[in-house]
Amino acid sequence: MHGVIGVRRRICVFCGARPGRDPAYVRLARDAATALVTAGFGLVYGGGRIGLMGALADAALAAGGEVIGVIPVSLATTEVAHRGITDLRVVESMHERKALMNALSDAFLALPGGYGTMDELFEALTWRQLGFHEKPVVLLDANGFYDPLLAQLDRMTSDGFVAPRMRELLIVERSVPALIERLRSCVEPYRGVEDQVE
Ligand code: AMP
Repeated sequence: MHGVIGVRRRICVFCGARPGRDPAYVRLARDAATALVTAGFGLVYGGGRIGLMGALADAALAAGGEVIGVIPVSLATTEVAHRGITDLRVVESMHERKALMNALSDAFLALPGGYGTMDELFEALTWRQLGFHEKPVVLLDANGFYDPLLAQLDRMTSDGFVAPRMRELLIVERSVPALIERLRSCVEPYRGVEDQVE
């Protein structure tokens, strides 16, 4: 349940296992991680130490944040797992991973990424559409990276494949401060050690 004092609020972040060509993508992942931790949120993510995922986790840890990684055993053994995070949960399958990431989080956030990020973002949206959860699903689109995708979603809506109110389920923010403000308005952050009962 949202807004319950005493439970750490966590944001599940989906992002690229690659860093992207422009260093601005890594900067965005770092800035988002630092701001999320400063705002009192814990992070749940895919558990990798590479690409934007690694940049996100390292920046969150450097800011003193809680970082939980959830990774399937097959990926964890091929040395891409981040061993320095607060809690690395190694699970059997991708399905188990997604279920655990969902169970541990209060909102979903997608940063730039590739197929994996899209898969996770659209699963979170689809499950929300079907009523399997009620958590906010947010896209951080700081440099227009997702503009073509959003245009496609608009096309799906105008051509009758996505209901207009379902199109509105995807919250889009264009900057890190706007993202934090949005998350604060829909997910109450963890306030301090004394509030933690988990
Ligand atoms: P992609 O966007 O294709 O780079 O995939 C990144 C997303 O998929 C992340 O949010 C992860 O949860 C997951 N993922 C893909 N590759 C890996 C990896 N090597 N290690 C951990 N998670 C990964």
